[in-house]
Amino acid sequence: MPFAPVDVFEEIIDREIPADIVLETDTIIAFRDIYPKAKVHILIVPKHPYKTAKEVRRDNVETFGKLFLVAKQVAEMEGLDDYKLHMNVGETAGQVIPRVHLHLLSKEFKSAI
Ligand code: AMP
Repeated sequence: MPFAPVDVFEEIIDREIPADIVLETDTIIAFRDIYPKAKVHILIVPKHPYKTAKEVRRDNVETFGKLFLVAKQVAEMEGLDDYKLHMNVGETAGQVIPRVHLHLLSKEFKSAI
């Protein structure tokens, strides 16, 4: 599947389209996936427009690491004990939205991401 022509997550960050935002920091935003593949399905997204995780480097690794910190925080807020963290990296790996995002999924898993 090719990348979507528009980065809808940028539009969510800019409040141009609505989203069910569960947590926001200066560098990260987390909101519920519009087509959930589990009972809880939250996307954790850096505000900096990294297209894929292939852009991780020594000088930006802190931003990428914060995705995991926010995931832990969101899981605690949602009362989750165990959960899955998943990231598609690149078009042939299933990434559709051209902006780095970590999927947090828990309970009643429905389908692969
Ligand atoms: P990926 O295939 O890893 O790029 O995942 C993109 C995810 O974004 C999918 O699970 C979609 O359901 C989700 N998604 C697409 N548009 C929106 C939106 N406007 N708000 C929330 N989630 C979205």
